[in-house]
Amino acid sequence: MTGKPRIGFVGLGNMGAPMAENLLKAGFALAVADADPGRLAGLGGRAVLPASLAELGRLSDVVIAMLPDGKIVRKVLCGAQGSNDGVLAGLAAGALVLDMSSSAPVGTRALGAELAARGVALVDAPVSGGVRRAVDGTLAIMVGGAAADIERCRPILAALGRDIFPTGPLGSGHAMKALNNYVSAAGLAAAAEAVLVGRRFGLDPATMVDILNASTGRNNSTENKFKQFILPKRYTAGFGLGLMAKDLRTALETAEATETPTPLAAACIALWNDAEAKLGGAADHTEIARYLETLIEEGQ
Ligand code: NAD
Repeated sequence: MTGKPRIGFVGLGNMGAPMAENLLKAGFALAVADADPGRLAGLGGRAVLPASLAELGRLSDVVIAMLPDGKIVRKVLCGAQGSNDGVLAGLAAGALVLDMSSSAPVGTRALGAELAARGVALVDAPVSGGVRRAVDGTLAIMVGGAAADIERCRPILAALGRDIFPTGPLGSGHAMKALNNYVSAAGLAAAAEAVLVGRRFGLDPATMVDILNASTGRNNSTENKFKQFILPKRYTAGFGLGLMAKDLRTALETAEATETPTPLAAACIALWNDAEAKLGGAADHTEIARYLETLIEEGQ
């Protein structure tokens, strides 16, 4: 690879679209794909729109996946069961796949071995920071893989994020991301429960958030989600409730794979799974607060 690698980018959703914009701004040539053709319209004229995933592979030195989960990443790369219509059908030996989705680490390791057998490297580089930091190009990125492969990705990662953390071998980035989101989801749910209880006791919710933010109960949700999305009942943070529930299930699977007891995670996942069943996965994750309010009516 000489000069800037040619990038294939699959998954132009809430996160992928602004990330692709930042890669274009940094001067990378992009070929893009998404299952929803409506997602491609914004990039028309500035990125190549290949006729197939295999064609996207042929046009790419590095393929970035920003898809809902690891099963979909596998399908996009390898094609549907028994078919040969995925990205890999066109990708040359020596290419690299950068999975920036929040995939499950055990599946990532298995996929890495399969890609290696075809001469293709895999690096997992999930992100944190939400849509706002995807737009700003200041994401936190946790990167797992062989050191030399991570080095190859650095110029790309530098266009997307501010804090880039190598986390160890392949899959370690995905494990870290799932564990981060467990902590984030637990913090959001705890704060939402506390604000609900406080409100019913007679406390003012906005004042409660100010006090939490000046006190030891402060967390990312109290700082960046309550006044912005939850108290005004906007629920437009741009991260799906179903994606958060998926991340929690991944965290629990990782706990099980390491035989680590995690009773709090188990309770937290039960809560988010029930919220997903009742509100649907497409609801915004901040609607966990709305879900908790529905439990009051259910209890009466
Ligand atoms: P999203 O649902 O907005 O976007 C996913 C995109 O993938 C959609 O455009 C969809 O059409 C496309 N897609 C789905 N299946 C496909 C397929 N088979 N082939 C091609 N395209 C397909 O999701 P998002 O919020 O952008 O999240 C993407 C990933 O990043 C997820 O793993 C999520 O957990 C993670 N993440 C999201 C956020 C956030 O704040 N939204 C933050 C950090 C990490």
